[in-house]
Amino acid sequence: MFVVMAVTATEAEINAVKSHILSEGMTPFDHQGAERVVIAVVGEVGPRKQHLMSKLSALAGVEAVTPISRPFKLTSREFHPEDTVVRVLGATIGDGSLTVMAGPCSVESREQLFETADFVAAHGATVLRGGAFKPRTSPYTFQGLGVEALRYLAEARERTGLPVITEVMEPNQVDIVQEYADILQVGTRNMQNYSLLTAVGRVARPVMLKRGYGATVEEWLMAAEYIVSSGNPNVILCERGIRTFETYTRNTMDLAAVPLLHHLTHLPVVVDPSHATGKRWLVKPMALAGVAAGADGVMVEVHPRPDEALSDGEQSLTLAEFESMMSAVGPIHGHVRDLHGDPVLAAQALEVGVGEKH
Ligand code: PEP
Ligand code: MN
Repeated sequence: MFVVMAVTATEAEINAVKSHILSEGMTPFDHQGAERVVIAVVGEVGPRKQHLMSKLSALAGVEAVTPISRPFKLTSREFHPEDTVVRVLGATIGDGSLTVMAGPCSVESREQLFETADFVAAHGATVLRGGAFKPRTSPYTFQGLGVEALRYLAEARERTGLPVITEVMEPNQVDIVQEYADILQVGTRNMQNYSLLTAVGRVARPVMLKRGYGATVEEWLMAAEYIVSSGNPNVILCERGIRTFETYTRNTMDLAAVPLLHHLTHLPVVVDPSHATGKRWLVKPMALAGVAAGADGVMVEVHPRPDEALSDGEQSLTLAEFESMMSAVGPIHGHVRDLHGDPVLAAQALEVGVGEKH
């Protein structure tokens, strides 16, 4: 449930509501909406729900107490109707601009990273990606350069001015990764690693949460809820494909998840057509499709010589292919940017408009 405070509610009234919630063994999360403060009540309320709702309704300064129908609370649009905009260095994610996260699957050397970084920065990327700690299916393949790669990423940020994103695989890596990176990535294999979600929820860095390859949208949002309820509101969701019976593609990119998420949650949504398809020549069309479906951005793997890549070469764009994708994606984004937002509310607004004309 959440408590909607009156527009005129005082600081003292807001604090009294929060203390009451705490005294009932629940946790208050307040959010300053466009006009008023709303306070989510999270925790295991059980059979006391009606009792708690009527007690809270009676407190001074409270306008209404509304149940949240979804199991995810802080991440739901019901509680937080405005889009979350993640700001990091000069980049804004989720404000209607197009975010492009690009770079190599793995940081392989300083030269390889800088060559890629310089190129993608010059051709419109807004965030630089690069894996340092790599979750590889085989223990015999390249596992990443680790801290050495983090240092190169930080140098690449100085060179290009772009914020950098890299994956953190374990709770005990969070400290070192957040020291160097601007955005922490939680990979598909770790989407339900709850101790990692809680750990990244405690740091002052935005987190990009990739969808588990076998996770439903609801499980994914519940994972995001772990991060937000641990204190970190800056979460970006990334659809990177789910496993289906299809084998021509590495995964199946769930395009409908994009507008669905815009309806269910206020968090920004990015698509990763590289991991979703596994094939370089499918990346551009699926990046375009993701943006057309309303994604706030794309994440793509780029390598100056994909044939020599130490990981994911088959799905990495060449520099020229990245440039070609960028020139196509901009106009698509220009066409659809007004369609951003909640597709259900937008459709309802349209119906109202139509009705008024008759
Ligand atoms: C990655 O982005 O480098 C990665 C490993 O992605 P995923 O977790 O989606 O497989
Ligand atoms: Mn990869």
